[in-house]
Amino acid sequence: MSFIEEGDKYLIGNYKRFPISFERGEGVYLYDTDGKKYLDFLSGIAVNTLGYNYPPLTEAICEQAKKVLHVSNLFYIQPQINVAKLLVENSCGDKVFFSNSGAEANEAAIKLVRKYFYDKGQKKYEMITFKGGFHGRTLKTLAATAQPKYHEGFEPLPEGFRYAEFNNINSVKENLTPQTAAVMLEIIQGEGGINLADKDFVAELYNLCKEEDILFVVDEVQTGIGRTGKLFAYQHYNIEPDIITSAKGLGSGVPIGATIAKEEVAKSLTPGTHGSTFGGNYLATVAAEVVLNEVLKPDFLQNVRENGNYLVKRLKEFNFKVKGIGLMIGMDLPESINASEVVKKALEKGLILGTAGENTLRFVPPLIITKKEIDEGVEILREILK
Ligand code: PLP
Repeated sequence: MSFIEEGDKYLIGNYKRFPISFERGEGVYLYDTDGKKYLDFLSGIAVNTLGYNYPPLTEAICEQAKKVLHVSNLFYIQPQINVAKLLVENSCGDKVFFSNSGAEANEAAIKLVRKYFYDKGQKKYEMITFKGGFHGRTLKTLAATAQPKYHEGFEPLPEGFRYAEFNNINSVKENLTPQTAAVMLEIIQGEGGINLADKDFVAELYNLCKEEDILFVVDEVQTGIGRTGKLFAYQHYNIEPDIITSAKGLGSGVPIGATIAKEEVAKSLTPGTHGSTFGGNYLATVAAEVVLNEVLKPDFLQNVRENGNYLVKRLKEFNFKVKGIGLMIGMDLPESINASEVVKKALEKGLILGTAGENTLRFVPPLIITKKEIDEGVEILREILK
């Protein structure tokens, strides 16, 4: 039996997979089991911040494996504390809770919002989220995800979410009720098609939250950890969210989630109110510590911004709509060109690309990519789109 047949036999069929299996990676390149080389513009869906086999990360993980991988949160874990300190010192948050994924980081944020108002004796529990957004696949984060296609077959979903139009402050106002506790926003909608939040919209939303005593939650699961050229995407805007969630790029391939909150909000998660067996264990946080230390080096984010601008410039040569910040970029294709078909052809030619939204190509390469590698990818794309 081929590995594909075996996979189909033993794995639940909830993913549509390409008939490719990778064996190893180096920098921004992956090699499949036949030895074919691929340039990676997808990073395991915006995860592999430092690409593949990045020596400081590989070494830190190997060294930690020789010592201890897991002890539970019944004890203090030094790298977990180091990562929390780095996240707090480089954001507007004060305290961190660690989990294992984006959905869990958001789930913790949702619980935190509820507990905060419960502790204040206020019956506020509703959250306003945005059409086209994506927040995860647990039932609560699915309910927060305002895209009906993901809901089908899973109703009734947990209540307490209202969906507003993205970039439309009037739509937010129409959804306000006396129970509104928070808004949750992706600064750039990733899965939804690389849609940027307008500066004016974010400013108005932020002010509205302040006026109405509503918490401002940013889901930075995809946009965070340098992806947009700042540690967090909200830092391009003049706001201080009450809660920031992070995952994907934080471990550069090692599963980790983080929920970062302002002190006043964070204090509601008292002992026993929330937890995770694995969250923030040695393996995950030793990786995240390396990632943050690399991303926070003086030139790293500057390079992301520069190379992001360069990729945008190169993609604009195709004369389609290009959007995004840093290395989180989308290119809208006309109806006549199917984004999924482009992805298939690109794979044949050794380029890994993603799609997003209706018909958008998604470019989220490892943040260590160089201009030369960008050129290489753009030339492959040109062969396909010509
Ligand atoms: N939030 C955003 C913005 C995401 O893009 C994703 C995943 O794509 C999630 C949450 C869910 O993260 P995970 O798949 O790690 O649960």
